Amino acid sequence: MIFRKKILVVEDNNDFGELLAKLLDHFGYDVIHAGSGIAAINQASETRPDLILMDICLPEMPGDEITACLKAHPATRNIPVIITTAFQERGVANRARDAGAAEILRKPFSLTKLREILDRYLATDAGQIFIN
Ligand code: MN
Repeated sequence: MIFRKKILVVEDNNDFGELLAKLLDHFGYDVIHAGSGIAAINQASETRPDLILMDICLPEMPGDEITACLKAHPATRNIPVIITTAFQERGVANRARDAGAAEILRKPFSLTKLREILDRYLATDAGQIFIN
């Protein structure tokens, strides 16, 4: 059985979401996409991803509030949430951390930085294809 770790990308910018999905697929991950808060919460509880990349500016509710919801539910509480944002203000990062985000990834980010964070949260064999 081929096992790939799964990442949920929560992003309302379709071009950027598609780019991220292609990249993550290339890195060896399965990718699920949600473009809004409600979809993100549903997808997370239904598919139990190994990690979530979460935009802040989203329709319906902001990424930090979605993160707080995920952290309030036992089924999704332990999934690491990486907040991706172009906001530079310290308050934005603080609110994201208060909501339970594991990490803040500032847009624009380099591929090196993205891989480094994925490796950190998905362990050294993450993203590799291996046979059980
Ligand atoms: Mn956005």
